[in-house]
Amino acid sequence: IQPILKPGSLKDPSVASLFSTKDPELRFSDLREIGHGSFGAVYFALDKETNENVAIKKMGFSGKQAAERWSDIIKEVGFLKKIRHGNIVEYKACYLKEQTCWLVMEYCIGSAADIVEVHKGPIFEQEIAAICQQALTGLSFIHEIKRIHRDVKAGNILLTDHGVVKLADLGSVSCSSPAQSFVGTPYWMAPEVILAMDEGHYDQRSDIWSFGITCIELAERKPPFFNMNTMSALYHIAQNEPPKLQIKSSTNEAAPWSEKFISFVDQCLRKDPEQRLSTKACLNHPFITDALPPSIILELIRRTKRVVRELDNFQYRKMRKLMYLDE
Ligand code: ADP
Ligand code: MG
Repeated sequence: IQPILKPGSLKDPSVASLFSTKDPELRFSDLREIGHGSFGAVYFALDKETNENVAIKKMGFSGKQAAERWSDIIKEVGFLKKIRHGNIVEYKACYLKEQTCWLVMEYCIGSAADIVEVHKGPIFEQEIAAICQQALTGLSFIHEIKRIHRDVKAGNILLTDHGVVKLADLGSVSCSSPAQSFVGTPYWMAPEVILAMDEGHYDQRSDIWSFGITCIELAERKPPFFNMNTMSALYHIAQNEPPKLQIKSSTNEAAPWSEKFISFVDQCLRKDPEQRLSTKACLNHPFITDALPPSIILELIRRTKRVVRELDNFQYRKMRKLMYLDE
């Protein structure tokens, strides 16, 4: 049974060990916002001690849902700190300041979603394959330790300036074992706790579906049903046949996708999880095994920066973060 944690309290030594007690304002300077989410914002910053650029995710936990937010923070930080993998965003440190957690990570120039947003047309299939290959390597590590990422999408696939792909945003990671969420003694259990057993009804393969959708996002710039409101989209995902890569593009030319890419996406997007590829099988699919070396991603980054430089003022400001290391 999870104890109720007092937000910001470091009495529990296992919680205290997650945080540095020093003042982060003294160590990090030049903060510039590069992204945001449900929790707050992510900043580019300079670590004055190491003279390195870092990313800082500031997560506030004051106000109404403080206890819940605090326990989410403990979960994300605790998990990130334990793992280290070349294709998962690297955790560096964590600070507490004024009801805000500063999660310091290695700096990435942007996400795969940022990259496809910059380009008006599709990026090359070989570029998509190379991104997928590395992202899947990170995902397969998470699956090996029996976790589910639960938020796989292009916005959570980051790229470093060296062309390395990093899976990010481990805030939604869960244990896959249903026993974990089925805690208590049956007769006294609330209905919603029993319903939480549903978690046991999905496993790592739910990430593979999301990965297939991510492939469509990288190829077509948006996931299927993106023009609908979320309720309708959920309905269509549940009711419709699985989406496919478009064979024709919007300009009615034949889309440039190979048979192996189409087959890969098709095998990720099976409604029956049993029929989906496993992470291992994904890594062994010709779409992935034939991926070119990571240098192709460096070329994609160079090409993307060239496009950003030519953007008009308004668009440039939005995508300027991709250029911070070059300024
Ligand atoms: P959320 O849980 O709200 O989705 P994320 O961890 O995904 O939070 O961060 C939100 C956004 O911030 C990302 O989509 C990305 O654009 C940016 N971001 C997050 N971490 C980094 C990082 N280490 N380097 C560069 N940008 C990052
Ligand atoms: Mg995210």
